Amino acid sequence: MRRSLLLAVLVFALALVAAAPGAGSERIEVPGYAVTVHYEARHARVARRVAAVSEDALPRLTRELGVSTLEPIAMHVVDDLGPYRRALQGELPEWGVAFAVLRQRLIVVDVERAARAYGSLDEVIPHELSHLLLVQLTGGVPFPVWFIEGLAQWQAGEWSLVESWQLMNAVWGGEVPPLRHLLDQYPDAEARARNAYRLSYAAFTDLFEGRIDALPAFVADARDRGSFPEAFAAFTGVPLGQWMADFDQRLGRRYHSRLLVFQTGPLFSIAAVLFVFVILRHQLRKRNRLKELERSEGGLFLDEG
Ligand SMILES: [Zn+2]
Repeated sequence: MRRSLLLAVLVFALALVAAAPGAGSERIEVPGYAVTVHYEARHARVARRVAAVSEDALPRLTRELGVSTLEPIAMHVVDDLGPYRRALQGELPEWGVAFAVLRQRLIVVDVERAARAYGSLDEVIPHELSHLLLVQLTGGVPFPVWFIEGLAQWQAGEWSLVESWQLMNAVWGGEVPPLRHLLDQYPDAEARARNAYRLSYAAFTDLFEGRIDALPAFVADARDRGSFPEAFAAFTGVPLGQWMADFDQRLGRRYHSRLLVFQTGPLFSIAAVLFVFVILRHQLRKRNRLKELERSEGGLFLDEG
């Protein structure tokens, strides 16, 4: 027992050491928070942006979740991903702008992708920080993926009229999975994963509509009980499974009634032209960001098991 424990600690330490060489010798401390950005001097531009986005977002992110004392978080801005791939034992098939390694309280930023998609840092960094803050608050208590990802998107402000429109289309087309399928993981196929993100956002915001101030108390209750479903039932008055089934129906009804309005009203032709224009414009921008995000999630669950 003792022996295996020691081995586990060593493996954990080795993983940390293996990751260290890519971290760089320069550092920026995010003022007021135990967050340190590590980088090589040649990556200073992206590192400064990562630190600035973090500094800007952390007061809000911690307040929304009720985090009073932040445990130290390291951010590595790197161009050599090899050490991380090896430390994560080759379980990282794709690469995104950034990903969170939960147990090591680490966010790794791919400097080249970040430089190409500079604007996406504004959403990707708060998204990954949200994951780390939630883990800090909940310890090892498992939360459903739809809750984790819905929360992160909400905290990162990753929603728009276009996302709403695309979710509506997906519901019409029967392309949205039932919420209960998003408890442990997301689907692999890209189109399905995108709809899973949108569904997660819709479920999270539906759950906290008009009572988002209750979020910190809810998270704390789930931690104290050691059970998300128990805290959920106490919060909503409905068992989790029942609520998820009700949500699926609610979503379907809501969007199908909107479909009827569009089909019968003069709104349709005006709205159609408008939406096509707006969607085309947003598609190009959003597609890349979402793609990066989905790849980022590769790292999210690696350390949970
Ligand atoms: Zn995520």
